[in-house]
Amino acid sequence: MKKYLLIGTIAFMGTAMFTSCGQADRKAAEESEFTYEVDRFGDISVLKYRLPAFEQLTAGEKEFIYYLSEAALCGRDIFWDQNFKYNLAIRKTIEAIIDTYNGDRESDDYKAFITYAKRVFFANGIHHHYSNDKFVPGFSSDYFASLIRGSDVSRLPLKEGQSADQLTEVLTPILFDPSLYAKKVDQSEGTDMITASANNFYEGVTQVEAEAYYAALADPEDPRPVSWGLNTKVVKSDGKVTEIPWKSGGMYGPAIDKIIFWLEKARNVAMSDTQKKELDLLIDYYRTADLKTWDDYNVLWAGNTDLSVDYINGFIETYGDPLGMKATWESVVDYKDTEASKRTGVITENAQWFEDHSPVDPQYRKEKVTGVAASVINVAMLGGDCYPASPLGINLPNSNWIRAEAGSKSVTLANITDAKDIVARGSGFLEEFAFDQAEIDRAVKWGSLSDALHTDMHECIGHASGKLAPGTDPNALKNYASPLEEMRADLFALYFMMDPKMTEIGLMTSDEPAKAQYDNYIRNGFLTQIVRILPGKDIEQAHMRCRSSIAHWVYEKGKNDNVIEVVKRDGKTYVRINDYQKLRILFGDMLKEVQRIKSEGDFAAGKNMIENYGVRIDQDLHKEILARYAGLNLAPYSGFVNPVMTPVTDSDGRITDVKIEYCSDFLGQMMDYGRKYSFLPAW
Ligand code: ZN
Repeated sequence: MKKYLLIGTIAFMGTAMFTSCGQADRKAAEESEFTYEVDRFGDISVLKYRLPAFEQLTAGEKEFIYYLSEAALCGRDIFWDQNFKYNLAIRKTIEAIIDTYNGDRESDDYKAFITYAKRVFFANGIHHHYSNDKFVPGFSSDYFASLIRGSDVSRLPLKEGQSADQLTEVLTPILFDPSLYAKKVDQSEGTDMITASANNFYEGVTQVEAEAYYAALADPEDPRPVSWGLNTKVVKSDGKVTEIPWKSGGMYGPAIDKIIFWLEKARNVAMSDTQKKELDLLIDYYRTADLKTWDDYNVLWAGNTDLSVDYINGFIETYGDPLGMKATWESVVDYKDTEASKRTGVITENAQWFEDHSPVDPQYRKEKVTGVAASVINVAMLGGDCYPASPLGINLPNSNWIRAEAGSKSVTLANITDAKDIVARGSGFLEEFAFDQAEIDRAVKWGSLSDALHTDMHECIGHASGKLAPGTDPNALKNYASPLEEMRADLFALYFMMDPKMTEIGLMTSDEPAKAQYDNYIRNGFLTQIVRILPGKDIEQAHMRCRSSIAHWVYEKGKNDNVIEVVKRDGKTYVRINDYQKLRILFGDMLKEVQRIKSEGDFAAGKNMIENYGVRIDQDLHKEILARYAGLNLAPYSGFVNPVMTPVTDSDGRITDVKIEYCSDFLGQMMDYGRKYSFLPAW
């Protein structure tokens, strides 16, 4: 599971994200020489991230990071194809135009095309990475035809016997007809979510057929079920529903073979023998697609803590599948931030205390919280579903039984967080949306610590808490599972942030950081996160549904006591928290209910909670917030370019060092990746 808190909160906190420790000065000095934002287009801001203290890593660590980074980049095409089956053909067409178009490159039309191209590159396809809606090109279909006619035919992704005009004919409705493939993922109530979604996980099957197929496979009595359907496409062949595995020699084979190539090199220089074994299992899994091997790998990976260099690589998160089974391909390569990891160490040491004191029904608490390994890391490379839009925190593996038996690893991505923090300062966001100066001051002083703690607790103890009732189907909550799971983790963090235990164990010196978090969370869930939704649309993304559900539920339940007040001032809406302690109790009540829903697999209650509190937006409020936000001229989403790594070798060809260059050219990196890491056929 991932946490995207930053997009929702820190990036919006405006002026204020100074660290409360002595690092502030050092950081300020570094920032002055480092420009974080490298590009801005559509609703996107592209940043770069630093690799702090990379030079101080050993040659062996750097070599390991380099191989894993190549593996991280080799799966790029897979994610494009998973998002939509025509994405690769479209991307190759765009690349051919950018490289070879012989017409006017200064015209407004061409500029609009480049903006469109950047949006597609950023989203890894023609649907928005967050809203899932298909982009509307800012140029005409006639202009698109002229771009293709003006480009080198030999570079176009033509099918056998296809002419450039025929390619135009095929692609035009896909790009320009708003009703065709309108949404990458459609989870609207009452639709066939599979046929309505444009993603490439199912073809020629209905939701009912796919659900029946997997219901027949799953054994509800199995205490250690594999993650059915995780790494396959479901199709119909001779009228029968069947799966095509993603593996070497299978679908996505050419890209997977490249990933294996680099993983084998990495395996030979891994940080420990168990990490070698772990990589052997991963390679084996990529060769066989065997989900049991994937579980064996994850058990080892979860137990392999305390490594200086670590990674994720595989078909991992299932947010992109409306049924929550198929995983998108992703990779992150990272190295430990030793100093900051001490903070997560304190949280982890106290994990059992938090679990034992949670407001959850005792029968749904874990008697023994296993191995919640948490650390603060710096990212060295992002790939697949983590690039360019990066999460803030990651907690894996996702399999419930592995989490219960072998524990999970939880990381906070420090250098990514820092980059966003720094850029968010001075944006004016907080001044526009915070209720009063006291709230702004609290955010300025405590926002950074408060967000770091919230992320740590969400990842280290939130997701790891609780357990299912015996016999509960882990897939019972279906399309509501993701937002409910995020709610569970957020509520756990919110509830305990205000606990005296936090000061007792030295994580805070007063409850001011907790108050800052409450201000921020309610403000975001109630008001500010909807700046990312187009007028008239509902909330769809899991983390946003989570925040909206929490904010609206506690508002309603606390109405009689005026716990949270909606205040109108000069035609502007604000929220103000009148009673932080009562709000904390409401967070606890809600956590108890959400855990019960998960533990019992109560689909109806989960659905009601999300549909009633998390989906719809008050239209007048939405208009007002959008207008206020537009006045600030900010980008609601951000993502990252990767650094460029160049290995230094000795006369025997052995890697002795890896040089880092920071890329400041988003489009350039995209074109470069297109040249170097394009392994799958266009069609
Ligand atoms: Zn999460």
